[in-house]
Parts: sequence; C-alpha cells; structure tokens
Amino acid sequence: MAFSYWFSRLRSSSKPICSNIRSSLFCKHRTQSNTTDVLNSDKRQTHSWTSSFLPMALAISAGSLALQTQNNPSICETPGIDHRHVSFGGNGSTDYVAKGSNKYVPQELIDELKAICQDNMTMDFDERYFHGKPQNSFHKIVNIPDVVIFPRSEEEVSKIVKFCNKYKVPIVPYGGATSLEGHTLSPNGGVCIDMTLMKSIKSLHVEDMDVVVEPGIGWIELNEFLEPYGLFFPLDPGPGATIGGMCATRCSGSLAVRYGTMRDNVINLKVVLANGDVVKTGSRARKSAAGYDLTRLMIGSEGSLGVITEVTLRLQRIPQYSVVAMCNFPTIKDAAEVAIATMLSGIQVSRLELLDEVQVKAVNLANGKNLPEVPTLMFEFVGTEAYSREQTQIVRKIASEHNGSDFVFAEDPEAKKELWRIRKEALWACFAMEPSFEAMISDVCVPLSCLAELISRSKQELDASPLLCTVIAHAGDGNFHTAILFDPNQEEQRQEAERLNHFMVHTALSMEGTCTGEHGVGTGKMKYLEEELGIEALMTMKRIKAALDPNNIMNPGKLIPPHVCF
Ligand SMILES: Cc1cc2nc3c(=O)[nH]c(=O)nc-3n(C[C@H](O)[C@H](O)[C@H](O)COP(=O)(O)OP(=O)(O)OC[C@H]3O[C@@H](n4cnc5c(N)ncnc54)[C@H](O)[C@@H]3O)c2cc1C
Repeated sequence: MAFSYWFSRLRSSSKPICSNIRSSLFCKHRTQSNTTDVLNSDKRQTHSWTSSFLPMALAISAGSLALQTQNNPSICETPGIDHRHVSFGGNGSTDYVAKGSNKYVPQELIDELKAICQDNMTMDFDERYFHGKPQNSFHKIVNIPDVVIFPRSEEEVSKIVKFCNKYKVPIVPYGGATSLEGHTLSPNGGVCIDMTLMKSIKSLHVEDMDVVVEPGIGWIELNEFLEPYGLFFPLDPGPGATIGGMCATRCSGSLAVRYGTMRDNVINLKVVLANGDVVKTGSRARKSAAGYDLTRLMIGSEGSLGVITEVTLRLQRIPQYSVVAMCNFPTIKDAAEVAIATMLSGIQVSRLELLDEVQVKAVNLANGKNLPEVPTLMFEFVGTEAYSREQTQIVRKIASEHNGSDFVFAEDPEAKKELWRIRKEALWACFAMEPSFEAMISDVCVPLSCLAELISRSKQELDASPLLCTVIAHAGDGNFHTAILFDPNQEEQRQEAERLNHFMVHTALSMEGTCTGEHGVGTGKMKYLEEELGIEALMTMKRIKAALDPNNIMNPGKLIPPHVCF
C-alpha cells in the first residue's frame, strides 16, 4: 500500500510536459483520466449502501447484468452460451472494460470468513475499491471485490478457499498489484485474498543457497535481508512486487539475461488448490525427475490454479565486483545489433538494457538528469575486478564497431545503484511526462537474432504515430517494452495505442516470438494466445484448469480466452 501511495504521489506531483517532448495534436486536449469513472461516480452515491447491494449497483450502472447464480458454471464461456461469467478479451477483442457479472456472496460465507480471519477482513468500500482498481494498467473496471481478506497462515488460506469453493464464489489472489495486464481485477466481484500479511522468511540455508519464504514478502525486502549473508535473489520486476505474485506471473526483469526467469529460480512451492487441499510441488533438491513438474505448472498460472502459500527460492552469491557501462548510438537498430553481438561474443553480461531517445528524455525529466537523449545501451558486468573490467573493454570494442559512441562506465557503488534505480523506475518516468494519461505497455519477445529487425520496424511505426511512445528493452533476452501514452478521454487515442500494440505483437508472432515475454496474460493478452499457441494448447490449458478448479472460482476470466471450449 505504501508503494501505491508513493506511486500515486509520484504521478500526481509530476508536471505535464508533453509539449516539451513532442508537439502532439492529442496533447492539446488533456483532461483528467476517467479510467475508473464508473466506480468513482458510484462511490459518491453508494457510500451508505449495504455492501451486498453495491457490486450489483455497479454492474447495472455499467450496463452489465447482475445475476445471483449458485449453479455450476459452464466450462465454456463462449459469449452467447453462458453470460453469467466473464466473456471479454478473447480473439480479436478490443475490450478494455473488465466486465463480468457479479456473483452473489451469501451471508453464510461472510460469516465463515469472519470466523476464520476475525479482524483481518474488510468490506469497507475504499479498501475494496483500492483492491479492485488497476494500479498499473489502463483497463476500466466494472466490479470490485465484495470482501478483502488478509490471511495470516496457510491454514487460513486453505479454509478460506474451501468455503469459497463450497459457495462457488470467485477468488482473486493479490500480491503487490504491480502486474500490468489487469491480473488482479475482480470482474465478478467475490473475495480478494491479499497475501501481504504472509511475509515471513521461514528458513535460510546459506550452505545450500536457498531460502523458504511466505509469498507476501517483496523481492526488495528479501534482498535487504539476504545482503549480510552475501546472497541475493536475482529477479527484479516492479518495485513493490511480492514473491507470490512474481511466481504467479512467471516474471523476470533486468537480471534474467544471466540468471534466468522465475521459472528457473523456484525450487518448490506450496499451493492451496481450489478445493482447499495443500500441495507441495517438490523437494528442496536442486534438481528432480520425480514425475510431472507441478512447480512449473503453477509458475505463470496467474492465480487461476491455486493460491501460493510458500516458496523455496534458489539464491545467488552477490558478485565480488561489478561495472556498469553506458553507450550511445545514432539509431535504435545499431543499439540492438550491439546487444546481439555482445550476446554472441559469449560475454556473460548480467544486465543488458536498451532505452530509446524518448525514454532517456523521460528519465532526464523525472530525475533531473542530463543523459544524452539518443538510443542508449546499459550494461552490467560482474565477476572479479579484473574480469569485470576485461568484459567492459571487450564490449566497448564491439560497440565502437557498430557506431557506438561516448562509452562511459561506473564502478562507484552508489553511482551504479542510482543508475539501476533510474532504469527500474523508467515506466514511472514516462508518466511524469503525462501524469493524467494512461499507458498501454507492450511486452513482445523474439528470438535474439530477430530483435534488431523487430525494434527498428516497431520504432518506425511508433515515430509515425501522433502518440507519445517510449521504448525500453531487456535487449539481451530479445524482450522489449513500449509505453504508449494516451489520453483515456480520447477514444481515438486509445484505438491508436491498440493499433500500435497489435502491430508489434503480430510482427513478433510472425518472427516466432511471443506477445508477452514477462508481464503475463491477465485480461490484456488473452486475445493473442490462440494465434501464438494454437487452439489445442489452449484446450489443454482449459482441461487442466477444469480438473483443478471445476467450479472456476480461481481468478476467473483471466489467462484462458473465453472462446476456448471443449
Ligand atoms: C515499474 C514497473 C516495472 C516492472 N518491471 C518488470 C520487469 O522488469 N519484469 C517483469 O517481469 N515484470 C515487471 N513488472 C510487472 C510486475 O512487477 C510483475 O508482473 C510482478 O511479478 C507482479 O508481482 P505482484 O506481487 O505485484 O503481483 P500482483 O500484481 O499482485 O498479482 C499478479 C498475479 O499474480 C496472482 N497472485 C499474486 N499473489 C499470488 C499468490 N500468492 N498465489 C497465487 N497467485 C497470486 C494474482 O492473482 C495476479 O493474477 C513491472 C511493473 C512495474 C509497475
């Protein structure tokens, strides 16, 4: 919550400087965001309403049908067959309103939840609204959770889930809420399980280089704890992200180029399934060939198969020494080519990040910096002092062979920390350019050899658009993001942002890439999954979902597109 507070402060205190960046027709008509207008207006009217009427009123006011349903949900959510459940975001969808019909939350369930969690549960509007609205995505919402619950133990989670399953009430697990594709929205209302009270470190095995934690701990807090032991956990998504949410989104970050993604860094999990059973997915051994890999099934399942209650993580030793280098390029294609050449040289960079000139401008404005506003690569080399410097010099030579200039590097610990902080907060720097705008964030990833071509084709399209767009890439992984800023009050701007996003996704798919390298599917990327994976893969996912969650209570309406039936 502190993070969100900080985030909203950052956004609201930043000055609108769109005209400094680019003279855009669209910028002339800036008005306040109406992303959550439906709920804002309802909030004023419904404060005194009983909470059980509120979600229904919200649904009606937004034009959706509120039904009290106790029946078994259909496993096929094709529009026209079963309107009781979420049916947005499928093939060809341009929806951005996360609509679903509100499910009835019976008083008996509320009473059971109160008995389990006592004071750690709320039906307060503000708290439900806070948990229901997107913190970092542009999706509009219709419903909010009916109840927000803060369990303190796995046992409590198990009981909560069991009762929700009994009454067939939807559950949305909730971590740091930094996900970017509407993952934590509650389109059907129901119970939001906020995991942030479960944040203890259960055991640290220094000699095995692993740690067992509860899911609510943040990666930043975990690394603060590990530092005195000379260890760290090498995944760095949004500041504020929790280990549970990171598992559920199969996230990565700037260090994935060296250490891999969440898929590679989780040894085992404990998960509460939809029927309340607690499953441990593996031993603490570093490798195992014992049966189906349930750990990896859960990693990336986005809360749709179970609630993660314990995580055993593989740790890394803090490198003895590191050097951070930066280099400028005349074009983004030159920068991408150096990223590829560096990877092919066999140098084990620990970070290799690319920023375009608009993103550097945003960083300068948000942080009072004076970096050259041109396409820029940022590198980190680790090892012994001599080895880090040797790698730096090899890459300096590669860069100079590809039009690189102004190669500079930092060895001072504070200077290095500051550079990576700036990079990590680059998304928020974009909002500093246009605080009342929303951002559509693309997350395409392609085989490394296609990166330069994809980035330069995308950049041409972005530059030709009247919208303000920035590019940030985890270039060593072939993964890049664009933050496409648009005024949510101007429908043509949203459509233009959608068009650019489609362009990049389709270009990436034509190169055997993916629509999401690390942010996950949520509600926003479902429409691309059939094209990327094929209907057979999606039907297999749906069968797994149906077997583990036959009542479709676990984060319904996300990840598997609604048109997938069997
Ligand atoms: C500024 C910024 C930078 C970012 N940079 C990166 C980046 O570099 N790389 C990257 O990969 N991502 C990045 N992200 C995205 C985001 O930080 C990640 O997706 C992160 O993994 C989400 O974790 P969270 O705790 O915030 O999860 P939440 O947003 O709370 O939840 C995400 C999903 O996980 C589910 N979930 C949460 N907890 C549990 C649980 N205990 N059990 C089961 N399901 C659960 C939720 O239901 C939801 O579906 C960035 C975001 C921001 C705002």
